[in-house]
Amino acid sequence: MRVQISDNISIMFTEQGFTYSNWLLIDDDVNAVIDTGLDREGLQDIDPRSIDLVINSHYHIDHTRGNNLFPNAQIAIYKSEIAPLRSKTEYAVRNSLDEWERLMPGVDFISNHREMRFPGSGSIKPLDNGKEIIPLYDGQIIDFGRTKAEVLLTPGHTAGHCCFLFPDQDFIFCSDICLTRAGPWYGEHLADPSEMMRSIDRIIGIKPKRIVSSHIHEVVEDPIPRLAEFKSRIPMREERLWKYVKENPCDIHELAGANLIYRSHPTVFEEFWEKLMLQKHLAHLKQQGLVIQDGDFFTGI
Ligand SMILES: [Zn+2]
Repeated sequence: MRVQISDNISIMFTEQGFTYSNWLLIDDDVNAVIDTGLDREGLQDIDPRSIDLVINSHYHIDHTRGNNLFPNAQIAIYKSEIAPLRSKTEYAVRNSLDEWERLMPGVDFISNHREMRFPGSGSIKPLDNGKEIIPLYDGQIIDFGRTKAEVLLTPGHTAGHCCFLFPDQDFIFCSDICLTRAGPWYGEHLADPSEMMRSIDRIIGIKPKRIVSSHIHEVVEDPIPRLAEFKSRIPMREERLWKYVKENPCDIHELAGANLIYRSHPTVFEEFWEKLMLQKHLAHLKQQGLVIQDGDFFTGI
């Protein structure tokens, strides 16, 4: 579904769930898209050859999966996100897949991954490795012609996650500051819940009139209360965790079973992500002297 933000900016809401995402179309002297979480059907009436520039908010597959659909486009992404776009190995390590065996003993990654991987899009690859990638930097103004956007480095979800401010439209594309019921997500090695909170504060400080995110089908007007509530989930998760390990000293596997972050684990990936995020909070609580670790066991004090 296509919704106009202004006369030449549209948000394309994806009709599909995870591994797809919403994307932005800018129809200007430089025709551009921000994020490519779409399959071929998702192009609707757009000629992919007319797109000059693909901007990725970050490297995750649900935001880059359609990069190759635009044969004439240059690709731009924050500089620290280039390596995982280029290299499968780097992609896997950034996603903390090196933690899988320890956190998910006895669960076969390959068969589970195959089941959920890129449903419906066959051969679309995130990126043709031969293409040159333009590095973005914080505060950069991207000039499309009539439209301008400022790059806002907003780490936390990934180290080089960016949002995009359109000052003339008083509008921000917030990407994976996503406002979904399950978020926020900060599982991978370079993700950081404290940085996520600072990034949300940065968006709040700009006081945009409207925002859209990558994973809800809504142009959010007056977004400050929604952003503040989204941010507040992070310390609430940590407090739930701390209280739990005060009463029930346990290991990471039992903790994940308590569903302190996700209400349920519909696939093994939600369980894996829950464990990754619990580890972030446990590290923070240990730093503050509120949790001690003895072997695999965590105790709140
Ligand atoms: Zn993401």
